[in-house]
Order: sequence, then C-alpha cells, then structure tokens
Amino acid sequence: MNADVLAVLTNLLGDERVSEKEADRVLHGRDQSSHPLHLPDAVVWPQNTAEVSAILRLAHEHRVPIVGWGAGSSLEGNPIPVQGGIVVDFQQMNQILAVHAADFQTVVQPGIFYKDMNKILGQHGLFFAPDPGANASIGGMIANNAAGTRTVKYGATRDNVLALEVVLANGEVIRTGSRSVKQSAGYDLTHLIIGSEGTLGLVTEATLKLAPLPEHFSAVLATFGSTAVAAAVVYQIIGSGLGPAALELLDAAAITYMNQDESINLPVAPTLLMEFHGPTTETLQSELQLVREICVDGGATYFSAGVGRDERDRLWHGRHQLGETLFRAHPGEKYLITDVAVPISHYPEVAAYTADLISSMGLKGALFGHAGDGNLHTVIFAPETSKDADLQWFNDQVVQKALHLEGTCTGEHGVGIGKQKYMVHEHGEAAIEVMRQIKQVLDPHNILNPGKVLG
Ligand SMILES: Cc1cc2nc3c(=O)[nH]c(=O)nc-3n(C[C@H](O)[C@H](O)[C@H](O)COP(=O)(O)OP(=O)(O)OC[C@H]3O[C@@H](n4cnc5c(N)ncnc54)[C@H](O)[C@@H]3O)c2cc1C
Repeated sequence: MNADVLAVLTNLLGDERVSEKEADRVLHGRDQSSHPLHLPDAVVWPQNTAEVSAILRLAHEHRVPIVGWGAGSSLEGNPIPVQGGIVVDFQQMNQILAVHAADFQTVVQPGIFYKDMNKILGQHGLFFAPDPGANASIGGMIANNAAGTRTVKYGATRDNVLALEVVLANGEVIRTGSRSVKQSAGYDLTHLIIGSEGTLGLVTEATLKLAPLPEHFSAVLATFGSTAVAAAVVYQIIGSGLGPAALELLDAAAITYMNQDESINLPVAPTLLMEFHGPTTETLQSELQLVREICVDGGATYFSAGVGRDERDRLWHGRHQLGETLFRAHPGEKYLITDVAVPISHYPEVAAYTADLISSMGLKGALFGHAGDGNLHTVIFAPETSKDADLQWFNDQVVQKALHLEGTCTGEHGVGIGKQKYMVHEHGEAAIEVMRQIKQVLDPHNILNPGKVLG
C-alpha cells in the first residue's frame, strides 16, 4: 500500500484511528480458525458511514484490498486479510440507533456485539435470537450468516434481518429492504449481502427482527447408548412437530470436556440437550410429556425434564464454552473444525458416519452440533508433528458425505478460505459463474475481502 493512501487515511481519521503497528496488524491477521496468519498493511477504525464510504472510495481508486472486521471470531479464515491491504475494524461503530419495541425491531451499527446488544434489549423484554457461541459482532454475524443453538426455533441471522445500509466497493452507500416484515419489491439485495463475507459490500447499519423473551421455559437432557441412536431421536422429535427452542447433539467425548467445568456433572454418554419455550406452563408441560415419550421410545438411558433455571443456565454456558474448553485441553496441537448440514431425515446417517470415522481414525476431539437444524460439527486434534493431510482427509470425507446427502459444506461458519474447494461441487459451475458475475458488477477491481468465497 503506498504512502499516499496512508497519508489520506490519517488525514481523514486522525493518527489514533489508523495504525501500522505490528501489534494491531497481528491482532487483525487471523481469526479463531487454524488458517495461517496474514498481516494487513494497516488497520482503521471508522466511526460513521461517511468515513467508511471515504475509505472505500480511496481503496477503489488505488486498488487496495479492504477487509471488514467485527470480533475476529470466525472459524474458516473469513476475515483474514490474505492479500494484505486495510482491515476496517467496526469496533467504534457499536451503537443501538433505535429500538422499535412495538414492532419487535432494532436498528444497530455493525460493531455492536450481540451479547451486549441483548443485555440492553432485555430491558424491553426483547432479544435477537441467533446466537453463535462466541461474542460476535452483528456485522460479522450478518456477513457470515451466523446461526446457533436457537436457530431451530428462531432461524439463522438471515431470517432475522429486515434492512441494511451497505457501502459498496466504490464508496457508494445503498439501503436495502425496509422495516416491513413482508417484502416483495424487487431483487432481494439484503439477502444477497447476508452471508457474502464482506466480499460484496460493508454493512454500516442493520435493522433486525427481535423476539419476546420467553415467559416459560425448560431445559431437557436425554442420554443414549450411541451417537447414532441419539441422532435418530433428533429426527423423531423434529418429525413429531414439536418446536424445540434448542436441540443439540453432544457425543460422549463432548460431555467429558463439558464436565471439566466443576459446576457441570453430566452422565458421560451421547446426549441431547434441549430447550422448550411455552406461552403457559400447561403448553410447556404437554410438550415435555411428548418429548419424554419420544426419547424413552427411542432408547433413552436417562431423561430429565424441568431442569431448574440455575442448572439450565450452567448447562447452556457449558455448551457455549465447549469450543474454548476443547482448545484449552489441547494447547499447541493442530486442529480442524468441521461444519456440515444436511436435510433432517439424513441427520442420523451423517452423524453415525462421522462418529465411525472419528473412531476408526483414532482421532481426539468431540462431535456435537445444532442437531435440530441438521447441522453437525466436530473439533478434532492431532499432534503438532502429524501430517495436515490426515485432518484434511477427514474434512473431505465428512463434506463429501454431506453433499452426497443433499446437504452443504457449511451450515453456518461460511466459506472463508477452507471451503472454497467444495463450492463447484455443491453449486455447479453454472451457478458459480453467476456468483462471479455478481461479484464483478459490485466489486469490479476485487478489493473487497479478495481471496474469499470464490477465491
Ligand atoms: C468458540 C466459538 C464458537 C462458535 N460457534 C458458532 C456457532 O454456533 N454458530 C456460528 O454461526 N458461528 C459460530 N462461531 C463462529 C463466529 O462466531 C461467527 O462466524 C461470527 O458470525 C463471526 O462474527 P465476528 O464479529 O467475529 O466476525 P469476524 O470474524 O470479524 O468477520 C466475519 C466476516 O465478516 C466480515 N465482516 C465483519 N464486519 C463486517 C461488516 N460490517 N460488513 C461486511 N463484512 C463484515 C469479515 O470480513 C469476515 O468475512 C463460533 C466461533 C467460536 C470462536
């Protein structure tokens, strides 16, 4: 990046909000995946849309790569600046601009973290439902179309965004969508931007759909003799028409890791961790009765419904911390995180296949997932000295299986760097060509997060 560009940036934002310091560049050079570090040339912290627009105009003119940055919690290398350039960190654009409580909506800047936002929205009896375990930013969640434990009831980020303000590669600012829940006016640019990983534009404002905080809820635990049996019960529960607010599968290894937290003491066995929300205790009780019957008929070796609030909070905290717990238990080891999703009727097959593969390859790690959405993860570890090829081979097998079952190579982490090689197989050459043309129209000089999604 030439000195002129840096001088203009410094003039625009001031010394405090433009950095070439090694420490800042390293902090913005990798995410939480195992993809290698790439340093940006500079990091900038804009405070408003006009500044983002000016940064992009400058980058467009000088052909400088631009990479948006939220919390850097991605798991596929999504925000790694593989071609250097400028990282635009949205940390200082973190305000709630409006709460339309009567319409169950809020308007926010992209840098706000969803957990911080939900604390404030809780005062209005509302919350934004998509919940990736990490404390991600709304901009990063929109760019990756993040999902989480509550997606089975409330949808992914994509289902909870009504409108966006987006700065295009040339600095032009556009607004997409509206505050109406129903929208049928023309091409859906909002949902084109969602999941585009910062390759089509930078989000500077978002109008989000909210849900009322549930009045009555209960966590449910059921254990089974094998991961395959537990996965088969997932299909039964979804097929029965029950509406769980969360339905998570955890293999025995995952439970062992969760039990490392002294406040958690679960039976070590393949487990379904569920939650049900109801408008009244009566509706909740009848759902719990049905889920008990399905689990017992499906071979549950242990079943507990009506878990109290404190224990429920501890269990969900343990589930959300699972990723961190796994990494703490394997310091310095190589790791790989997988993320496939399949139609729910194929979930038992993909889960059983993956569990068998882990055991036949003798891999360490855990299998878990947002089972109610047909989403399966593993985090597996290998000694520092082992060949990368083993982990990649495992990933390839799991993805091929998911694609064979009419699923996807990524349910929620996005394409980033690691999933590009599966894109043609999943979508076909003709659809990929349409995606390339869209990218060409919106970002003709390929400055927005170059090297991602389509490569
Ligand atoms: C322990 C752990 C558990 C996780 N669990 C889940 C899970 O259950 N479900 C899930 O979906 N994910 C999960 N993730 C992954 C991650 O939290 C999500 O992908 C999240 O959406 C990333 O948000 P972020 O703010 O960290 O974005 P970043 O990682 O900073 O960026 C993500 C992408 O967004 C782009 N970007 C950032 N801001 C903008 C913007 N304003 N405009 C345009 N593009 C932008 C970046 O360039 C990048 O491509 C987990 C991660 C960890 C570490």
